[in-house]
Amino acid sequence: MTDAAFDRDHLWHPYTNVMAQGPTYMVDSAEGAWITLDDGTRMIDAMSSWWCTIHGHRNPAITAAMHAQIDRLPHVMFGGLTHAPAVELGRRLVAMTPERLQHVFYCDSGSVAVEVAMKMAVQHQLAAGNPGRTRFATPRGGYHGDTWKAMSVCDPVNGMHHLFEGALNVQYFAPRPPVALGQDWPEDDEANGTAALSRLLHEHGDQIAGLILEPVVQGAGGMRFYHPEYLRRARRLCDEMGILLIFDEIATGFGRTGELFAADLAGVAPDIMCLGKALTGGHMSFAAVMASGAVARRIGEGEPGLFMHGPTFMGNPLACAAACASLDLLADGTWRERVEAIAAQMRSELAPARDMPGVADVRVLGAIAVIEMDHEVSADRAHPISRETGVWLRPFGRNIYAMPPFILTPDEVSKVSAAMIRLAGVL
Ligand SMILES: *Cc1c(COP(=O)(O)O)cnc(C)c1O
Repeated sequence: MTDAAFDRDHLWHPYTNVMAQGPTYMVDSAEGAWITLDDGTRMIDAMSSWWCTIHGHRNPAITAAMHAQIDRLPHVMFGGLTHAPAVELGRRLVAMTPERLQHVFYCDSGSVAVEVAMKMAVQHQLAAGNPGRTRFATPRGGYHGDTWKAMSVCDPVNGMHHLFEGALNVQYFAPRPPVALGQDWPEDDEANGTAALSRLLHEHGDQIAGLILEPVVQGAGGMRFYHPEYLRRARRLCDEMGILLIFDEIATGFGRTGELFAADLAGVAPDIMCLGKALTGGHMSFAAVMASGAVARRIGEGEPGLFMHGPTFMGNPLACAAACASLDLLADGTWRERVEAIAAQMRSELAPARDMPGVADVRVLGAIAVIEMDHEVSADRAHPISRETGVWLRPFGRNIYAMPPFILTPDEVSKVSAAMIRLAGVL
């Protein structure tokens, strides 16, 4: 059996039928923006391998930090023990996130970070004397991961909630934020979506522990950008009602939107913030949950006075070292001009796509560029074209999109734009 045949018949890939999988390409290596296949084909990874490799693959500063760490302490348990990479990373995260976020919980993946954030909110409410507050509010159109609690706050249609009825927590959904980023914010609260959010929170307030959302960019739920004023209003509503505001910055964190965090686009600080994906520059699976002093204090004062979570690989030193090196690469701030330059170039290169048949919208924010079609597009049909154009793209839903690493040269950016337009013409 060839490797390709074994892979096809035995290895589940994301969201596939292992009994009838489409083709996959064998990757040999990757460096910078480029992936090399086993037959020598080279492609720009315009997805940053699911939005993670912001400094490119195999970044020398990150791999050097990992090599040094692996020869010293690849792993040790975090219960009763600590180590320099965990402390170093914690210092950086506390300094760079909104000021009220003072406490860090390390875990292994984005979905688990969302589980941890939701558990924190429930324990906070319990300690605050609100044992009935165990549910969550969230706008439609969101994506928060594939584990059960995270899945329960994903968009009910995209997340196929009907399949899991009975197994899934029932949550409260507000309409998706109706005002797009860049549009004028209507003063009428019915038009700007905050009246519906307010009604939902007031109607079910005694059951709601937290409001969880992806700030400004709804990613895997549809690649939509909405008005940051929505977040300022959400902050106010949560404060009025004692509901915790949870920002899922797993996709948006670490410069993707042109700001360090999407929260910065609104100037709003959440009570809890989830980080993942680009945290290690895409070199290791890792995530972190940031919590305010008030949340940490409340949980500590409640029953049993402990936050009830602690994964085996919590605070893994190798991942912490990779994350520290990645954050060091962001520290000089040059990413900001690079992301701005990518945004400006893609905005102008993708503008002609607006007039193509089948194209519904074209939008760019930071290093996120989207051609939204008026119909569903197929990733399987896109991949052979990616191989031909040398630009790896994986469309989903109606969206042909790129989330490239911040290191692309102008010439590489042009290749990505051209490949997206080519796909828009044939998918
Ligand atoms: C990817 C993603 C997650 C889930 O992260 P995993 O590492 O895949 O578990 C959660 N929230 C958002 C916004 C994401 O983009």
